[in-house]
Amino acid sequence: MGDKGYIRQRTLAGRVACRGVCLHGGGRVAMALVPAAPDTGIVFRRTDAGVSIPAVWSSTVEAALCSVLSNGEGIEIRTVEHLMAALRGCGIDNAIVEVDGPEVPAMDGSAAPFVAMIERAGTIVQDRPRRAIKVLKPVKVNSNGATVALLPDHGFTMSFEIDFDNPLIRRQGMMVAFEPDTFKTELSRARSFCLLDEVDRMHAAGLALGGSLDNAVVISGDRILNEGGLRFADEFVRHKLLDAYGDLYLAGGHLIGYFQGSRSGHAHTRRLLAALFADPDAWCVTTLAPAEPLPAVAWRQAAQRAVA
Ligand SMILES: [Zn+2]
Repeated sequence: MGDKGYIRQRTLAGRVACRGVCLHGGGRVAMALVPAAPDTGIVFRRTDAGVSIPAVWSSTVEAALCSVLSNGEGIEIRTVEHLMAALRGCGIDNAIVEVDGPEVPAMDGSAAPFVAMIERAGTIVQDRPRRAIKVLKPVKVNSNGATVALLPDHGFTMSFEIDFDNPLIRRQGMMVAFEPDTFKTELSRARSFCLLDEVDRMHAAGLALGGSLDNAVVISGDRILNEGGLRFADEFVRHKLLDAYGDLYLAGGHLIGYFQGSRSGHAHTRRLLAALFADPDAWCVTTLAPAEPLPAVAWRQAAQRAVA
């Protein structure tokens, strides 16, 4: 926290780059994270098309399995959510993300490689207060058995429930109140996952063409096909939290509030942000630092509610 009761904005201390495979498109891309001036926010730049797109919900388009930014004229950047989660988790307010293709590289299917990149670059504080978006009243979206909600809270808290008709996943729930290191230690390493039965269907739809055991957990019945198994017993719900955490950063700033997700995906979180910002009484902008969570609830994990 700053000495004036606010947190100062941050950017990267230097440029850092990587290369990797696109999960959905299948091609290879190069990506660089570049420092940016105060109040820039996160801006994606398609270097192959000469187009910049701010990473905000109003630039997103409806998509099935990932979050997609569009300039409204057919130039898109897909699968931004894991990188957005890493930027949010590392406290980066301002950065340019240069990509020479239509998708952010999948890396290992989690946000951990992006966190490592940001740590390699280092971060610097900037002489401008961070503006957070404070939720003032409950906002909720229900759709096809999924629910997402934002409620007022003193800090930033998330909970998520999933319920899969698969013996290995079934029901998992988790609640997290965020402190500075919580994202990195508890969520950043959780990988994307899919059921083997779905792979053919996704390929037929032109999705997950770059998917492999290197960038996703693949489940066949009650077996994990990846050598080495899971990184957490409840890696699935942790990844859903990671996705929502990254998608919520498309609010255009840090949220102060409590997010609840139940069986939801990217499209629901997108609609939730649209509903929040459609109601001027539901939110405000503040430079005040969020309250510190009480020690007893600073990190609480609901017991994994696996149904035997
Ligand atoms: Zn994901």
